Amino acid sequence: MKFNKKLKNISTYEAGKPIELVVREFGIKSEDIVKLASNENPYGCSPKVKQAVIDIVSKMALYPDDSMTKLKDALQDRFSIDKEHFIIGSGSDQVIEFIMHAKAGKKSKVLMNSVTFAMYEIYAKHVGAKVIRTSSQEHNLDEFYELYKSEKPEIIFLCTPNNPTGDAIDAKEMFDFIRKIDENTLVVIDGAYMEYGAYKDESKKVNPKELIEEFANVIYLGTFSKAYGLGGMRVGYGISNSKIIKELYKLRPPFNITTLSLEAASVAVKDEAFVNECVALSFEEMKRYEIFAKEKNIDIINSYTNFVTLSLNDNQNSTEIANSLLKQGMIVRDLSGYGMNSIRVTIGTSNQNSRFFELMNDLI
Ligand SMILES: *Cc1c(COP(=O)(O)O)cnc(C)c1O
Repeated sequence: MKFNKKLKNISTYEAGKPIELVVREFGIKSEDIVKLASNENPYGCSPKVKQAVIDIVSKMALYPDDSMTKLKDALQDRFSIDKEHFIIGSGSDQVIEFIMHAKAGKKSKVLMNSVTFAMYEIYAKHVGAKVIRTSSQEHNLDEFYELYKSEKPEIIFLCTPNNPTGDAIDAKEMFDFIRKIDENTLVVIDGAYMEYGAYKDESKKVNPKELIEEFANVIYLGTFSKAYGLGGMRVGYGISNSKIIKELYKLRPPFNITTLSLEAASVAVKDEAFVNECVALSFEEMKRYEIFAKEKNIDIINSYTNFVTLSLNDNQNSTEIANSLLKQGMIVRDLSGYGMNSIRVTIGTSNQNSRFFELMNDLI
């Protein structure tokens, strides 16, 4: 059967390996498997969320509230931004997909960092757009500006803090950069790890309210999959000018968020204390990775997220190390596909991290 030609050069996104796969492939008991591959919150979600989801289970027969009022009200309170500025997606991934379809097509260009979230490129290819990348590993806004001037992209993606490297852009510099961008170019600020970045360093903190008050051509993305501990619920959001939100809404399938997910996210936003506690614990544990890397003479990128990227030495191979760890029930992310001899490790609980150091000690 013949398929649409553009599918030919799209590779399927390789998600972090699920625990179930390691159980099947290596016969390891699921309770012995440690997954530090997808930057989920190892402490789970707020206990208040669990009770709220149990309480709403009886509503499963009915379609969800498609106005998503409860969640939008909660987000409105959280960000002090009126609810007409929000769109909710099945993960912020889905919002990226809407953005691409709304703004780009064949002959369009999409500008992004050399190393960044893989889904930007995949969605760009869905619409036949051309991907332009900078050359430096960390976001270099001067380079972004040069490429913006020469290539005239429809969309610019800035991922801060960035996945899979963990570095973050200075917020003031980012605002200065956006001031130089023409209003017909859409700037996407992906803040999937902003809860972590803002905690570690105030100068990296991007306030979506300030962004959308100053700029009509910016959309800010957030997710419940990381700090909020709701990866399995698939909820993310975009915050933007209401005109942009209206256009994106035309692309949204009805009932794209389930009743359980809406409830979980609505309750999760309100428990800021839980999120702050998890973020603080994550940075406490990150210190152990920094000490470990120093002991082993491995480079570690200064991270503003809940993961670290270990740049291995020439005599070490990231794919081999990730595979050896996998066979022992430890799932991490091999970054060879990004052209880096590195592994990305989500900061887990204290026990999970100890297990990682123990296994790595035997490998290197
Ligand atoms: C995890 C992640 C997302 C979105 O995840 P969803 O689960 O789809 O909300 C977006 N951007 C980056 C950089 C991420 O790491």
